[in-house]
Amino acid sequence: MKAEFRNHGILKLFLVAIFLFLNNNVGLAQRKSWTDAEFKTALKNAYEKFKDYKEGANANYIPELDKVDPELFGLAIVTTDGKIFTEGNISTEVSIQSISKVFTMAKVIEDSGSDEILEKVGVDATGMVFNSIIAIELNQGKEINPLVNPGAIATTSLINGDTYEEKWNLIKTTFDDFAGRKLNIDQPVYESEAATNQRNQAIAMLLNAYERMYFDPAEATDIYTKQCAIAVNVKDLATMASTFANGGTNPVTKKKVVSYQTVAHVIPVMATAGLYDDSGQWIYNVGLPGKSGVGGGIIAFYPGQFGIAVISPRLDAAGNSVRAQESIKNIVAELGSNPFYVQPRK
Ligand code: GLN
Repeated sequence: MKAEFRNHGILKLFLVAIFLFLNNNVGLAQRKSWTDAEFKTALKNAYEKFKDYKEGANANYIPELDKVDPELFGLAIVTTDGKIFTEGNISTEVSIQSISKVFTMAKVIEDSGSDEILEKVGVDATGMVFNSIIAIELNQGKEINPLVNPGAIATTSLINGDTYEEKWNLIKTTFDDFAGRKLNIDQPVYESEAATNQRNQAIAMLLNAYERMYFDPAEATDIYTKQCAIAVNVKDLATMASTFANGGTNPVTKKKVVSYQTVAHVIPVMATAGLYDDSGQWIYNVGLPGKSGVGGGIIAFYPGQFGIAVISPRLDAAGNSVRAQESIKNIVAELGSNPFYVQPRK
């Protein structure tokens, strides 16, 4: 009886020692593995915490976006080993909007090399609102960044193909591959934006005047508008993000979409310009490369580990979903999944 008791004591001590060791050496520092339960709980906690959050307002400069249910709230994580975790609304689709810009940029880098974007568009953040015309004027069409409208329309114009159809088909199949399924176009959103996007048309024409547009400006703007109207649910977005996290290969279908070298060029641009003029605040708080769209989606990913997406249509002044930012911030903090957490060597 006594000996047994003593053995339990030793066992307990041993377990406490292991716990202390793990806690000391793993803690929140550069964690690279999480249990399924941890992912599920982090999503659930963010959902519960923010389900009644109403800050911000739908985008209304594209009339159709103002009609989207502002309460829509979906969260998803897709790991690089293909596990999918979701919470909230996972079936309703929204238009991908500016999140599209990263995938088109990736395809141009993949097919034409990293210098193409560097030299013909530029990769420095403009620090200005996403549809800024001043940003074009300041540098006469140079350094306009692929993740804000001028640079994004120029990037779309650089997609391989001699005709509108060829370029559009290449964009569409690329997006399908990132998501791992055939995506649809939100036709009302496309038509609504095409009828009201005079500012983007002007941007394309201005770039054309500076010889920084590489296809017919009106057609390039239209392809760009259509790419922004691609409809996605939160699981699609998290899968697309996880394809980047997984070095360019879709973790669910296992299809290689772009190379890991391409992804290595995409990440820094996302990290420095993914949330427009609030990109600094984002990376400061979250530490993960991210990309937002005025449809209400935000994607982010931890290279090598997982992709995450949240959809919630109410936006802040910069055009970023308020609840999606808060949710991802919360999830990253809970998982300790900020890649910049480094524990000093002992
Ligand atoms: N299609 C939108 C536009 O060009 C995309 C903007 C965004 O998501 N920030 O205005």
